[in-house]
Amino acid sequence: MSMNVASRLPDVGTTIFTVMSQAAMTNGAINLSQGFPAFEPPDRLLDLVNQHLRAGHNQYAPMSGVPALCEALAETVRLTQGEIVDPDSEITITAGATEGLFSAIQAVLHPGHEAIVLDPSYDAYAPAIRLAGGRPVHVPLHVTDAGDFSIDWQRLEDALGPRTRLIVINFPHNPSGALLDESDHRKLASLLDGTDTLLIADEVYEHIVFDGRRHRSVLCNDELRSRALVVSSFGKSLHATGWKIGYCIAPPALTDELRKIHQFTNFSVSTPMQFAIADY
Ligand code: PMP
Repeated sequence: MSMNVASRLPDVGTTIFTVMSQAAMTNGAINLSQGFPAFEPPDRLLDLVNQHLRAGHNQYAPMSGVPALCEALAETVRLTQGEIVDPDSEITITAGATEGLFSAIQAVLHPGHEAIVLDPSYDAYAPAIRLAGGRPVHVPLHVTDAGDFSIDWQRLEDALGPRTRLIVINFPHNPSGALLDESDHRKLASLLDGTDTLLIADEVYEHIVFDGRRHRSVLCNDELRSRALVVSSFGKSLHATGWKIGYCIAPPALTDELRKIHQFTNFSVSTPMQFAIADY
């Protein structure tokens, strides 16, 4: 019997990450496409995983994350960003940032909504928006002759409309490394003021910043924080991308909605790794 399956994503093929990583393997080339390091995670972290495997931490973790990890993360956010987040009601541990992004998008987007993405962008955003019934609206970043990327404020303002439910931003930016500063956050906050538009901030490269610069999270701007789901990745930060552990920080009401989706996509995330990262 031949089956005619109507695809939910008819124009989507294999992602560019898979294509380029396979090409790098076939040709013995350095793989700059997928964003993983050419070195191992720290030895102490690997030892801690071993210890927790042997200590019996091998069954389902709590749906929202191992409490010790949520507490350790809240403390890291306090030290690096100076912001207090509540580990119980504002943090959810996810199966990599990608699951956090997917669940966040499914949690807040309804059919007919528009979601703005700033291009070039991580290729997981637009399909997740479409699966939620939304329409991705692509706004290119501004590029100077020197190759610096920044938000094109006029184009962003022009793209915002009554149907805009969501803006997805990614700073430090993949692939350019661009950062947002305090005045960018203020501009974004004033654009969103008085709207129902939410923000997903993909901050997976938060700790991979060079030239003495520092990443400032959208959590530091109260107006943005009140409408933001901030997604990041222990995989990126700890050079262990294959572990697929990430997290989402959001106000309690948004966290509740995120968890409704997360509990059915990835009820529980790698227990021994969560314990190890908490101790690290
Ligand atoms: N966001 C961006 C911008 C990325 O580049 C990547 C990895 N390429 C991810 C998210 C994925 O993070 P994770 O492996 O934790 O799902």
